[in-house]
Amino acid sequence: MARTAASTARQLLAASFSGMVFGFLEDGGQEFKQSYSSSDGSSQENEAMFDIEDDHEEAGEDEKDKKFWDNQNQILEATLCRTSSLETKIRSVTKETVKESGEAVCGCGKAASGCRSCLMREVSGRLCNAGYNSAICKSKWRSSPDIPSGEHTFLDVVDNSSSRKGEVRVIIELNFRAEFEMARASDEYNTLVQRLPEIFVGKVERLQNLIKILCSAAKKCMKEKKMHMGPWRKQKYMQAKWLGACKRTTSTPPLSMGQSDQLRPRPKASMLTVDLLGEMIPNIHCKVVAVL
Ligand SMILES: [Zn+2]
Repeated sequence: MARTAASTARQLLAASFSGMVFGFLEDGGQEFKQSYSSSDGSSQENEAMFDIEDDHEEAGEDEKDKKFWDNQNQILEATLCRTSSLETKIRSVTKETVKESGEAVCGCGKAASGCRSCLMREVSGRLCNAGYNSAICKSKWRSSPDIPSGEHTFLDVVDNSSSRKGEVRVIIELNFRAEFEMARASDEYNTLVQRLPEIFVGKVERLQNLIKILCSAAKKCMKEKKMHMGPWRKQKYMQAKWLGACKRTTSTPPLSMGQSDQLRPRPKASMLTVDLLGEMIPNIHCKVVAVL
């Protein structure tokens, strides 16, 4: 059963990347109002901004929209410009590795150039060499009434060097901007996405904020365009990718033959159990209704 769900999700994901269009059976407006009953309570601000009415004839609606986008831009800027010295150092090793490796990194034979899994292994290895507890993380989540199941692979560094701050986890995503790009988005949304770094290196809290900002914006954008938003664009789906339970593979053994992104569980693998998904509220039923 789980396997079926996972393969369905893979199909969904593959479909989303090849430009297929999905929609909800339910009314889009209903989905819009419900999905803010989410997670941590800190989304009050965003929630308020989303409390807009359907009829755009109302005077001042354009002004409100403008205010929304100005505000998203401001909080995005504020989130991106803050950084700690730990993040800066990890970012610099990461960028250096990507720059030096260029398109050439692929030892698994899967791709002639630009193999994501090989590049991730290279970056993780370099971070380990630089003394960081870096790992390749594979998250995997089940489908729920809110979102389809799926999996995602990225990198992290767990830092325990500061006794004052305790354990700090820094997430590294090499294709961050692409995760939020939408084919038929509005100019406002595109502008926001263009401000994102291609390579994200930042603490969990920072990533949480960015997800919140971008998913709110995606929702607003789709509402303005009167289009349905794919479930993989939802805040909960994005959170599941990077912030849910994941398997960390800390060893970086020499590349084996074939099977590139099948990261086999290795002896050092451990589970991080951040159970964000436990809070899901089962009230939206989605289904694939249109394939184009
Ligand atoms: Zn490869």
